[in-house]
Amino acid sequence: MPPHSTAWISALISATDDDNITPRVRCSESATLLLLQKAPEPFTRQADLAERDFRAAHDLPLTKLRSNSIADGFRPCTEPVLNVLVARMTVPGGPWPGHYGLESIVFRSRPAAMPTYFPPHSGQMMLMFGDMVAASRAYREGAGAVLFPEQLSVTIRPAHQSFGVVFLSRLQTLLRPVVPLLEPGTLGDDPDLLRLRREAFLAHERGHLQGMALETVLPTRSKRLAAVISELHADLDALLMLLSTSTEHALAVASVLVADRVMREAWLLRPHAQVDAIAARHLLGLLSRAGAIVLTDEGRVALDLLRSRACLTEEWERVRALEQDCVREGVAPARDYLQTSGWEIIGSSCHREITSPLGQFLACSAVRRQ
Ligand SMILES: [Zn+2]
Repeated sequence: MPPHSTAWISALISATDDDNITPRVRCSESATLLLLQKAPEPFTRQADLAERDFRAAHDLPLTKLRSNSIADGFRPCTEPVLNVLVARMTVPGGPWPGHYGLESIVFRSRPAAMPTYFPPHSGQMMLMFGDMVAASRAYREGAGAVLFPEQLSVTIRPAHQSFGVVFLSRLQTLLRPVVPLLEPGTLGDDPDLLRLRREAFLAHERGHLQGMALETVLPTRSKRLAAVISELHADLDALLMLLSTSTEHALAVASVLVADRVMREAWLLRPHAQVDAIAARHLLGLLSRAGAIVLTDEGRVALDLLRSRACLTEEWERVRALEQDCVREGVAPARDYLQTSGWEIIGSSCHREITSPLGQFLACSAVRRQ
């Protein structure tokens, strides 16, 4: 990379971190905007797009910046060209859950493709796999591993999903500490974690493509509950697809999907405000009831996912019908479904403590990892 590009990237990341310390600064006077105006090649086109959002907010404070242009028009370039995305957004798994801050991320990306053993799917996949080169604090210090338009603060929701980036090596790093908690052999004798995590993510994405993308259909204020239902649909669809493929490898992929969800994401900070954590706790409840996840006497987590097939199929049918109801009636059916399943909903936050021995064990393990 030319030295002037490296210097510009470091200056941009510092400027964004500084701007987040003074969120009342006007968009027109922010240090990040100054850097965007000086962007070198190959960043000029993506920097211009971000600059358009800053210009639209002009004299308003940074907290009022809306990243409509990025949400609508950002298209990642394929490697070796670098990308820069600058937007106000929330970072799932970040250190400030539910908080929208200014973020700058520089990354490489390449198109993702479904494994050939997955059945054909409906819908067009926009997903790219990315490698992070540099990022502002919420990404650097948190567990942020994805970049989707739904994370952005916008006034106009784009009619289509313009991009989706997954930082796979980050997901693998996050997964690694939970693997020793699984009963030995759950993922095979010498698991290729990166491959298993990649395919688990793709199975989940395939599940999204088969669903209604409720969070893009319903009004912004009901976004969190709608997104929880979409996540559940994607997980259930992915698990059932993998279980019906019924090879040892597909079962290991399903186990990774479950392990990362219920052993890591269920215990993210402020879980009541994080869609991934809420969906994860819900899935943990379903699998526990089916006896498909248990704590062994040796203090390991044992998975017997084939056992959960009937229960997951029943829930998948329920969630699919629920999505249709939500499209017709708004988010009320989703709220009813979650409340009936034992969630306490305050505003759009979903609260549920998991007091079983398995829950306590997973909670303690999560605390030790922090
Ligand atoms: Zn998802």
